[in-house]
Amino acid sequence: MSVHHCPVCGTLHDVHPVLDRLAYGRQLTCSPRCKTIFPGMVRQRVLAEIAALRRLVVPSSGNAANAGVAGKAQILDDRSDNAAQGREWEMQHGN
Ligand SMILES: [Zn+2]
Repeated sequence: MSVHHCPVCGTLHDVHPVLDRLAYGRQLTCSPRCKTIFPGMVRQRVLAEIAALRRLVVPSSGNAANAGVAGKAQILDDRSDNAAQGREWEMQHGN
């Protein structure tokens, strides 16, 4: 028997060697109750990690990251202005 540490309640419990090998290094839950709770815990942790990453990537107020996005938008605007000027020039000077 292999000993696993339940990721939900923290209990040390015996696991059949076949199940231990099928777990591929992950710690198995100790009971059907913990097995039911575990996916919700994982979902909460993943959502919290995503929220933390979003706070890092998209800060609330202006800084270098937002300035970079604004700079790109400015470049796109310049391109569209140049295209409009080119069309005006063609209209004024004919083909
Ligand atoms: Zn447990």
